[in-house]
Amino acid sequence: MQRYRLGNLEVFFLQDGAFRLDGGAMFGVVPKVLWSKVAPPDEANRIPLTLRPMLVRVGEKWVLVETGVDDKPGEKHRRIYAIDRSTNLLAALKALGLTPEDIDLVVNTHLHFDHAGLNTVRDEAGRIVPLFRRARYVVQRQELYDALHPHERSRASYLPENIEPVLEAGLFEEVEGEAELLPGVRVVPLPGHTLGQQGVVLESEGQRLVYTADLLPTFAHAPLPYIMAYDLYPVTTLETRKRFYPVWAEEGYLVAPPHDPTYALGRLVLGERGYTLVPV
Ligand SMILES: [Zn+2]
Repeated sequence: MQRYRLGNLEVFFLQDGAFRLDGGAMFGVVPKVLWSKVAPPDEANRIPLTLRPMLVRVGEKWVLVETGVDDKPGEKHRRIYAIDRSTNLLAALKALGLTPEDIDLVVNTHLHFDHAGLNTVRDEAGRIVPLFRRARYVVQRQELYDALHPHERSRASYLPENIEPVLEAGLFEEVEGEAELLPGVRVVPLPGHTLGQQGVVLESEGQRLVYTADLLPTFAHAPLPYIMAYDLYPVTTLETRKRFYPVWAEEGYLVAPPHDPTYALGRLVLGERGYTLVPV
């Protein structure tokens, strides 16, 4: 776990396990001879990833961005994605003296299983129920719609068990576009990976931090064309990057990608050969 103070805000980077995805799919049109230098693959061509939920303390309120990687679907799912949850979100919350009931707001950047996995859990009776029972789950209206109406290209990423119990409990808070959730905490649409994806911007006492969601999944993905084949709208990803990267670089934002196996925070730097993300 990493702790960071951003003005009045206290920011914690938790880790919900490790998993692996196909390296080719993670880097889209970038040739393997290039990406394998920055992200060496295993024998099944998969590269190591994590999911790093961000927990923010805002006065007396707790905001959790991302709920982690799902392992409810069982053994086959665990094997395919090499999911290892020996470090996990619940243990990290416990280490901070928190329980799921302490969380006031959950932000779902998007509803893919590797980001929204612990939206729900299986209770003692075997029913799947929302984990954060006292929280509102903030999601873009577009994302919720698309998750409830998946197509052949997106269906494997949206697991109904992470979404429907939250919907039935009336815990989703749908937003459209940019929205301030609490002083210093706002969501910002970052379309491309999905149309309804959002990031989170924290701002306090002149310091700024952006949680990028899958617009920028790992440090290795900083160059503009390093776009995942998983993205539903890759050209939109490029346009969103071109709109925000210069702002984040020039204004000195701390940048937090969700999936990097090693680093939680960096700064974008524009050099002669394009953008790189330098660890902080
Ligand atoms: Zn992801």
